[in-house]
Amino acid sequence: MQRLAELPTPTPHYDALIVGAGPSGSSCAYWLARAGWSVLLIEKKHFPREKTCGDGLTPRSVFQLQAMGLEDQLIAHGHRYEGLRAFGFGASLEMKWPEHPTFPNYGYTITRFNLDGLVAETARNHGATVLNYAEVVGLLEPGDPSPTKLRAAAGVVVRDTETGDLREIKGRYVIVADGQNSRLGRELGTERNRSWPMGMALRGYYASERHDEGWIDSHLDIRDTTGAVVPGYGWIFPLGDGRVNVGVGLLSTGGAWKGVNTTKLQEYFVAQVGEAWGLNESTSLGAPTGGRLPMGLAIGPRVGVNTLVIGDAAGTINPFNGEGIAYGYETGRLAAGVVAEALVTRRPEALELYDERLDQAYRDYYRVARAFVRLISQPQILSVCVGAGLRIAPLMNELLAVMANLMRNDQRGPAEVGYRALVRLTKVLPDQVFDLLLGDATREPARLSA
Ligand SMILES: Cc1cc2nc3c(=O)[nH]c(=O)nc-3n(C[C@H](O)[C@H](O)[C@H](O)COP(=O)(O)OP(=O)(O)OC[C@H]3O[C@@H](n4cnc5c(N)ncnc54)[C@H](O)[C@@H]3O)c2cc1C
Repeated sequence: MQRLAELPTPTPHYDALIVGAGPSGSSCAYWLARAGWSVLLIEKKHFPREKTCGDGLTPRSVFQLQAMGLEDQLIAHGHRYEGLRAFGFGASLEMKWPEHPTFPNYGYTITRFNLDGLVAETARNHGATVLNYAEVVGLLEPGDPSPTKLRAAAGVVVRDTETGDLREIKGRYVIVADGQNSRLGRELGTERNRSWPMGMALRGYYASERHDEGWIDSHLDIRDTTGAVVPGYGWIFPLGDGRVNVGVGLLSTGGAWKGVNTTKLQEYFVAQVGEAWGLNESTSLGAPTGGRLPMGLAIGPRVGVNTLVIGDAAGTINPFNGEGIAYGYETGRLAAGVVAEALVTRRPEALELYDERLDQAYRDYYRVARAFVRLISQPQILSVCVGAGLRIAPLMNELLAVMANLMRNDQRGPAEVGYRALVRLTKVLPDQVFDLLLGDATREPARLSA
């Protein structure tokens, strides 16, 4: 991987400039470079680097990594697991990942410290130029603001984070993959629909003798020291390297559960499950760190004349389960497809296909997911559903397939039938009625396409 000063002079004019080398940016760079386009992937940190995450890959993520030829690396650096153990309200259930014609029936855990550099490296091996210590600090010749489109940009201004050197770099297309805080996305004109669900999560590492278990744990009832249920969910993901990743998440809609402190939630959670996993101050490997989870395609617009936003910058996290890595890889790949189409045909309008393809891939699913989040944001509903659900194994297995977006097109099992019924419901009810029914009358007028 290169430094800014190592780029040739005069600076090449790239087919695609990609800002951020997380899952979405590196996947986009891989697919474009593999197709032969000149790609500059610009990352402000240097690999390997820490990234706050649960480090859990579902079968959807594994599938994308397989497609990029990286499963051997997962075997070498990750920890394979077979499914999810769910706990809540006195019940527990072990659920294997379902059999699926496309996706594998297993997942991996792997730290982002190890994972993200692997994907950036494979993009580089396929011809992308990857810059490290290179922060994009501005846009070149930004176009006019518009409520429905991203601004255009002739390129970006890049600063070497160590030397402070600045360089202007031009590109035909600019793809923003700078994550949940997306400063560049906002500069291009993105906004989050604030009445749609948003997640917050916190994670820490602990040494644990149970580090190589073949299941990931999810706790749906976190309790405070008095035994009262507090809103949120917790996870323990064994990493197979002596450590477990322990975290808590909060899903909130329109201010529900406002004022809940994730650090306190994490303390309650560790107090609740700590003994069984050997989690305490002496096994803690450092203070927990947190971040936001923009979800359900709540961020837009996502397309400009020559610009796109992908991954967390476009709010692509799955509201059902807080998973964002797979959707980073997938949206990076979708974006690469439309940019390649625009480059081949010399028709920048091909970029519009990105929104269409996002809609095809996620619109209905995320609409159902947002409704689900609204429902379970109400603690009474959560306790009834989880308490009853975990006692009905077949129901929960079907729900796992829905929540991890692993329904089958070739079958009409209960998961598929139930899900399709919900999609039909979301389609016949106008947005406003749908939101009202689910207790959120504050939805902004639809500016986004979803
Ligand atoms: C606590 C927590 C736990 C989570 N657990 C999971 C999980 O277990 N499984 C899962 O699938 N998802 C999980 N997620 C979500 C997941 O981490 C994100 O959805 C995913 O990282 C999004 O990928 P991305 O490429 O869009 O953004 P990021 O991974 O955030 O990557 C953005 C990159 O851009 C770089 N960058 C930013 N600004 C600039 C700039 N101006 N110039 C150059 N580079 C820049 C950053 O350094 C970074 O490398 C979790 C999130 C949190 C907060």
